[in-house]
Amino acid sequence: MDKRVGITTTIPVEIIYAAGLKPVDLNNIFITSSTPGEYVQQAEITGFARSTCAWIKGIYSVVLHQGPKRIVAVTGGDCSNTIAMGEVLETRGVEVIPFEYPKDRSHESLLKAVENLMARFKVSWEEVNRTKERLDRIREKLRELDRYTYESNVISGLENHLFLVSSSDFWGDPEAFEAKIDELLAETNKRPSLADGIRLGFLGVPPIFTDFYEVIEQKGARVVFNEVQRQFSMPLFDTEDLIGQYLSYTYPYEVRARIDDIRKEVDKRNIHGLIHYTQTFCHRQIYDIILREELGLPILTLEGDRPGKVDTRTALRIETFIEMLRGV
Ligand code: SF4
Repeated sequence: MDKRVGITTTIPVEIIYAAGLKPVDLNNIFITSSTPGEYVQQAEITGFARSTCAWIKGIYSVVLHQGPKRIVAVTGGDCSNTIAMGEVLETRGVEVIPFEYPKDRSHESLLKAVENLMARFKVSWEEVNRTKERLDRIREKLRELDRYTYESNVISGLENHLFLVSSSDFWGDPEAFEAKIDELLAETNKRPSLADGIRLGFLGVPPIFTDFYEVIEQKGARVVFNEVQRQFSMPLFDTEDLIGQYLSYTYPYEVRARIDDIRKEVDKRNIHGLIHYTQTFCHRQIYDIILREELGLPILTLEGDRPGKVDTRTALRIETFIEMLRGV
């Protein structure tokens, strides 16, 4: 039996693990595959419009070609395209289980959504809470990894991104994931502090560019804050119960919560400037207006469309932005 359950974004994975199954974040499979561009193309051949976001097309093709026969599709609090994409997958024989972060961000509504998902996977609160304890131990180590990125400066922006973005599914194998974090943390004892140049914060959905962090570092800057990826790791919420944890998670709710979180982290991490990454054809691009008005720090807004390396124009814009910050 295939134990994998595809997920379209971060969900309470405690439920999937408690059911003895293996969550796999479809975005991560898509972007780390050897042919992400082909996945996008295949979806377009099927009939997905050019004007549909590449992530949606990518995860659609991943499900068809790599297989999980069951997915949890987040239909509220993430992306409205997921609803239609899920319906197409259903016609292809995939079991699509909806999960919705409630718009009102209330305890009552989220509890209901979580318990519906628990009923679907036939797990009890006792099993879910036991799983949460196990995952929280790993989340604590991710917090340390994050601290090493901005405090002792021994972990790169790319490493920070890769580990935090993977905390949506813990690689489907929490033991292996934890062992890799332990290995990295142990290795940092021997590392010199990374040169402290311009310190950047990265806002928005994870980049579709495959060499984004390398380009930043080549230009003499470092990302010391990955906003959304950090949120995937549930950074502040270890004392709360499961519902509290997923209410504190900022990404699926109003932008106000994100702004408060970003402000705190910008101060703590001594950040010089922010890069707001937006995805072509994504409604979240509109938040750029509020982020610029509210954050009071230089912001470079970038847009990525299809998977691949950073294009020359974007690389030049990054370089100019870093130069500008150097001159501030
Ligand atoms: S980038 Fe935007 S449009 Fe694309 S899947 Fe994510 S939320 Fe949806």
